[in-house]
Amino acid sequence: MGKTGRSPVPFGITRTKPHHYREMARIAWENRDELPFAWRILRKGVCDGCALGTKGLRDWTIDGTHLCTVRLELLRLNTMPALDPSRLADVASLSSLTSRELRGLGRLSKPMVRHRGEPGFEPLDWEDALNLAARRLRQTDPARIAFYLTSRGIPNETYYAAQKAARFLGTNHVDNAARLCHAASTAAMKDTLGYGASTTSYRQWIGSDLIVFFGSNTPNNQPVTTKYLDAAKKRGATIAVVNPYREPGYVRYWIPSLFGSALFGTGIADHWFDVDTGGDLAFLNGVFKALLDEPGGVDADFVHDRTRGVEEAAAEVRRQDWDALESSSGASRERIRDFARLLIRKPNAHFVWSMGLTQHAHGTDTIRALVNVALARGLPGRAFSGLMPIRGHSGVQGGAEVGCVPDVDADRRKRWEQVWGFSLPDRKGLSAVEQIRAAASGEIDAFWIVGGNFLETLPDEERNRAALERPAFRVHQDIVLSSSMLVPPSDTVLLLPAETRYETAGGVTETSTERRILFSPEIPGRRIASARPEWIVITEAAARTHPERGHQIRFSSTQAIRNEIRDAVPLYSGIDRLSRAGDAVQWGGERLYAEGRFATPDGKAHFSPVPLPERPRPVGTYSVSTRRGRQFNSMVQRDIDPLNGATREDVLMSKEDARELGVADGDPIRLVSNCGEFRGRAFIAPIKSGNLEVYFPEGMALLSGEGIDPESHEPDYNAWVRVEKLGAMGRPPLPPGEGRGEG
Ligand code: SF4
Repeated sequence: MGKTGRSPVPFGITRTKPHHYREMARIAWENRDELPFAWRILRKGVCDGCALGTKGLRDWTIDGTHLCTVRLELLRLNTMPALDPSRLADVASLSSLTSRELRGLGRLSKPMVRHRGEPGFEPLDWEDALNLAARRLRQTDPARIAFYLTSRGIPNETYYAAQKAARFLGTNHVDNAARLCHAASTAAMKDTLGYGASTTSYRQWIGSDLIVFFGSNTPNNQPVTTKYLDAAKKRGATIAVVNPYREPGYVRYWIPSLFGSALFGTGIADHWFDVDTGGDLAFLNGVFKALLDEPGGVDADFVHDRTRGVEEAAAEVRRQDWDALESSSGASRERIRDFARLLIRKPNAHFVWSMGLTQHAHGTDTIRALVNVALARGLPGRAFSGLMPIRGHSGVQGGAEVGCVPDVDADRRKRWEQVWGFSLPDRKGLSAVEQIRAAASGEIDAFWIVGGNFLETLPDEERNRAALERPAFRVHQDIVLSSSMLVPPSDTVLLLPAETRYETAGGVTETSTERRILFSPEIPGRRIASARPEWIVITEAAARTHPERGHQIRFSSTQAIRNEIRDAVPLYSGIDRLSRAGDAVQWGGERLYAEGRFATPDGKAHFSPVPLPERPRPVGTYSVSTRRGRQFNSMVQRDIDPLNGATREDVLMSKEDARELGVADGDPIRLVSNCGEFRGRAFIAPIKSGNLEVYFPEGMALLSGEGIDPESHEPDYNAWVRVEKLGAMGRPPLPPGEGRGEG
């Protein structure tokens, strides 16, 4: 691999890389029974994968086709045939199936119920299902009812209707999957800037001097970003990556729709800044400290005119000595200063980040530290600059914005009470992890879960299982089976088959990372027996719970929901006018705060004093974090990570650590944390010494579930582990030039 990142070998033959054309052919074959429907979904629908956002096969950033294998892999969920309900008559026969095999059984097609002591589920019709749900909800103290909605393609209309239904029933215990990925970003950005959303747009990347990725792997999770980055680099942008692992997708990526890139690959990263897992906060504090000392390090006019609190924040980092910053970040003071100087040389910069920053007990503080650096450089609102918490799932930006969160501030409460015509409950709502804790300890009696699988996505499986077992009434509303649904009922479990966004009459909307509200039309084609849109089912069950005021929660269509969102959520003004494929409206415009006023009460952006976290490393341990391969959330699509060639049992480990442990590539090892163990194989990779990575959800047994960010309630997905060598088997040698991402 040369300095350009281009491969000397055409098509990356012999190298570890995604084989896009081969995968497209396989996926076309997999969808062969519904090819015309699949093609219409791709051509007209808004992608249900990540939150980059599409209009069919196009986007708003660059010309040309917008498509990736993440989206293609998800197609089968939309085209697969119905599950035979008799398969659920005795769930013991399903207990040995993996999650992928359960999904592969087909789409849920009928409402089904299982009572305590019964071996499985029996079908029932919708009338009986809705009446049963209403009866059970009516019998339950509202303080003991909880709703959780995942991010699987769920549209704004469903999030909005569900949170309204929860409040109609008298509970604020309603939350969505964004809690697990970017709650820390939302909390910190709301506090410091006013809105918990990207200040910039992808189009702004093209023209930027510098784009920095922190704790992020966009070539894997948002693959079309590589096309934007290619365009940005051609306009002169430099790319830097701050991460413990030199992700191979940033070393080079083969962009299938660009001829030269498809042939020889595109080098993405120009600068690497290696940090320890969880060390980003200290790294950013060090950068802020260095900027304060460097000539031209701070944009004095911006800080003076548009911010508050710089003195206190500066005093805090000045108190932190370099030794502490080095040991907490894992980066040397020279590299930290190099980063600060890079920012000075490249004034128009973007900071893009993902869960490497947020999924820590100090996640909110890490984003505050990032905002401090961005404010010192005057980035928010400036052209070709800004802050972007990039989203991995299509629903998570809009879910919280339309109110599917437990907290309601005074303004919202007042507005909603006017629009809705009923009072909101006063009791404080529980966030996702609090709901799980409450359910596991017997404080939730009715738990309504839309999509998702707590058994795989949250640490502490034993507690999560108890949270599913204990509520007397549990509802799973989804498109396919999951292992959560098979957890025996304390009293009653109801399965309700859902429609996808593409099947929903009247079309629906999602909100992309760049705050663009996108209309996805109903796509003509085959339908699944009696599956229904989630919003209709939740609101109808709520209406039947209190029939005397049912009219307050029933909607006639998705258009009626959009009309109400316009009134209830002023940021979403214009959502009511979205009705055709390609329609979109971007709240806040291409750049938020472009006029220099922030959305805080005083109109200023706020610096924050950010102390270093207490993270003593127990003697003899390594830091392990969880990573994603070819998968969508916990839905694993491929056993081999196409970007580095690792299997799901592999443990990414540096050469230095392997040498010290006497471990060779492929040797079986055991990781032991304070709560569990993981058996896998050493996979030698360019990761910073002292840090390991395992795949999610396979490595979840290592996580205790105790670590949580106190402000945002985002869980910590990291642990300290001992490493034990189990034997010496090695791995067959890699083909020459394989390189495992080392380029
Ligand atoms: S990059 Fe994201 S939005 Fe674009 S096609 Fe892939 S999954 Fe969909």
